[in-house]
Amino acid sequence: MSEEKMISHSRPTLDEEDRQAVMNVLQAGRLVQGEQVAGFEADMSVMIGVSHAAAVSSGTAALHLALVALGAGDGDEVICPSYVCSALLHAVRCVKATPIIADIERDTFNIDVRNVKKRMTAKTKAIIVPHLFGLPAEITKITSLGIPVIEDCAQAPGSRFRDRVTGSFGVISIFSFYATKVIAAGEGGMALSNDPGLIGKIRDLRDYDERDDDALRYNYKMTEMQAALGRSQLRKIDGFIKKRREIAGHYDLILKKAGIPIPITPPEREHIYYRYVILLDQAEQFIEAMNQAGVACRRPVFKPLHRYLGLSGYSVTDDVWKRAVSIPIYPSLTEPELFVIAESIRKTGVSGGLRGC
Ligand SMILES: *Cc1c(COP(=O)(O)O)cnc(C)c1O
Repeated sequence: MSEEKMISHSRPTLDEEDRQAVMNVLQAGRLVQGEQVAGFEADMSVMIGVSHAAAVSSGTAALHLALVALGAGDGDEVICPSYVCSALLHAVRCVKATPIIADIERDTFNIDVRNVKKRMTAKTKAIIVPHLFGLPAEITKITSLGIPVIEDCAQAPGSRFRDRVTGSFGVISIFSFYATKVIAAGEGGMALSNDPGLIGKIRDLRDYDERDDDALRYNYKMTEMQAALGRSQLRKIDGFIKKRREIAGHYDLILKKAGIPIPITPPEREHIYYRYVILLDQAEQFIEAMNQAGVACRRPVFKPLHRYLGLSGYSVTDDVWKRAVSIPIYPSLTEPELFVIAESIRKTGVSGGLRGC
């Protein structure tokens, strides 16, 4: 099947309002450090209910500066889950801290609190907790361990844990506005915190210009075009999430009929379905068959972090990594596309004799 006929695995949902928002910036002519960036920070603060925000160039930059702000450096340990994109590893390496990798829970794909406890030492400086695929991790159990938590909300803006929006639990939370994320600004990221000192530090370090001292600084600024697009997208987030949940409900029905276990949402958590991920014994064959049918399915994590580091003893992650498949889910999926996806799952699922976990 040719590329352009494929139903892509992810796609931004852009409309006329988004295009106009960017055009307005170009017409006004101020491209950086203006009212859009400040406005986007204010909008995110309101949505998450956290008092300070600093926009940066990417989610990875936000993680990097969050670690710097917390004082993580050479000799410190930072705990991360094994099953997540390598951005976390890069951020930890940027500050020369040692990444300590924790295994995940099989049913939620999120960091396993018991495994985190086992890996804590006197050197543990921070724990990075992603809410993977849009499902909140057991965040309060982790924050109660007494170590600063960086909440990684890159995949989970608008998700909730016990009626509180995620991003308001950690000492710092970070977001990503990469093209395929829930809120797309092309590239972009943000750090939020109720601690003005931490956000002040991040604001200071994201820009190198006109500074007196010789501290190591970065050019991690967000442009006005990105911020204007991010704000325009953010205004639509409730509708985006509603649509994602509708599609997930649709997939739930089809998969149940095919005898494939569906993603679970434990009590007191609200999933936003950034990704719809299932576990299959024959993941490779399923992906291949779906591709043949014109539906791009993917492994949701390219390579787990412990594998980059050559570590063993991550049995849950290894098993999940082998069997996880991500099915397209985004608000701009059309009815005919959903029909093709549903039909393809039905055919593949039944004839392939797939068994779930
Ligand atoms: C995308 C992502 C990041 C990194 O964000 P970028 O904007 O791509 O740098 C970090 N953590 C998680 C969980 C992500 O999904």
